[in-house]
Amino acid sequence: MTSAEAHVVIVGAGHAGGTAAALLRQYGHKGPITLIGEEPIPPYQRPPLSKAWLKGEADAESLALKPLDFYAENEIDFRANSRAVGLDRATKTVQLSDGSSLTYDHLILATGSRAIHLSIPGSDLRGILALRTAADAEQLKRELGPGLRMAVVGGGYIGLEAAASARALGADVVVLERESRLLARVAGETLSNFFQARHEAQGVDFELGASVSAFEGRNGRVTGVQLADGRVIPCDLVLVGVGVIPNDDLAKIAGLEVNRGIVVDLEARTSDPAIFAIGDVALRPMPIYDRMFRMESVPNALEQAKQVASAITGRPAPSGEVPWQWSDQYDLKLQIAGYNFDSDQELVRGDPATGKFALFHLKGDQIQCVEAINSPPEFMMGRQLIGNRKPVDKTRLADPTISMKEVAG
Ligand code: NAP
Repeated sequence: MTSAEAHVVIVGAGHAGGTAAALLRQYGHKGPITLIGEEPIPPYQRPPLSKAWLKGEADAESLALKPLDFYAENEIDFRANSRAVGLDRATKTVQLSDGSSLTYDHLILATGSRAIHLSIPGSDLRGILALRTAADAEQLKRELGPGLRMAVVGGGYIGLEAAASARALGADVVVLERESRLLARVAGETLSNFFQARHEAQGVDFELGASVSAFEGRNGRVTGVQLADGRVIPCDLVLVGVGVIPNDDLAKIAGLEVNRGIVVDLEARTSDPAIFAIGDVALRPMPIYDRMFRMESVPNALEQAKQVASAITGRPAPSGEVPWQWSDQYDLKLQIAGYNFDSDQELVRGDPATGKFALFHLKGDQIQCVEAINSPPEFMMGRQLIGNRKPVDKTRLADPTISMKEVAG
């Protein structure tokens, strides 16, 4: 069998898995492709679920990654409602939840991550929701409405984006975050404080440093969230957005190298050369920061889909990308390039009071990370400067009258 005829099995039909299937065809793979998805629908975009879709500004069709007939037209065997439950590397076989099995030449694990469930008293009450899948989002949309009070546990991306959407729908919102600031996992302190102030101006309440100890309810439905200090925050529904855990169980059982994420190289290849892992589940090298990292973002899913499709079709490995992420809340477009691992200085460009500014995190005279609010040039040029590791003149960078193009030289 030539490598062009090889059977590629992709486990996981999220953004990473769906994109890998499409790219394999685009890059000329002629062999069979099977795409296994646990959910009842073909791959779709998750980012709108907490934003445009929740606010009713996007329909189900616009969420789809590809039109429905794309899979049949491209001879991609998409299997909905199907889960891989076993993996035998010796026989290159994947066992599926319906009892059938598939043999592969190349296996791509794109199993993603799952929302963390809070195991505290009352967590099985009705009205306590997560937001990870389209089905979750539909349930949240059904439950939200004007005048209702939603308590959000977790002040990360999910919590804050859902809070902004809920306010737009006329609901009252209180966010309970256990850290002393919001977005602590992804943003610096200045940005956390800026977002808190913007949400407060829109009427969102916050409890920071809040430890949630139980949910209270009546007739099987949640009525409040109890904090460790004894206070009870009354609510009509709860959204839990306290992070995710990678779905790396299959890889663990099969004896692949796993370290809170499936360890891969720059081709997205695991410790078994016939198996790749991409997206949220992969612990991947990040050459510009000289470390391994697991990234929970769409741009990462797309980058790794390119890596795996290139490796399988024998193309040269794509050049490395500077990681980035974005978030939309109210009229704020946040774009972050890079990661702030070990900066020694934060530099502000523009005036935060105007809602249009950028925060540059530098190590010496090199930019490690840029957090841009409504400032696409700062984001784009900042991302470029992170990638080429070019030193910058900090005085010029801090002066918004000098264009980013000039700063980048
Ligand atoms: P997240 O970004 O990890 O934020 C969760 C927050 O909840 C953290 O600040 C966490 O604090 C806090 N938390 C954890 N346990 C808590 C508890 N018991 N009580 C109160 N707070 C608690 O995760 P997420 O917001 O749930 O998002 C889920 C996934 O979706 C992530 O992968 C995220 O990147 C992705 N997502 C991304 C976007 C975007 O890129 N715009 C939008 C939506 C979702 P600790 O740090 O102390 O754990």
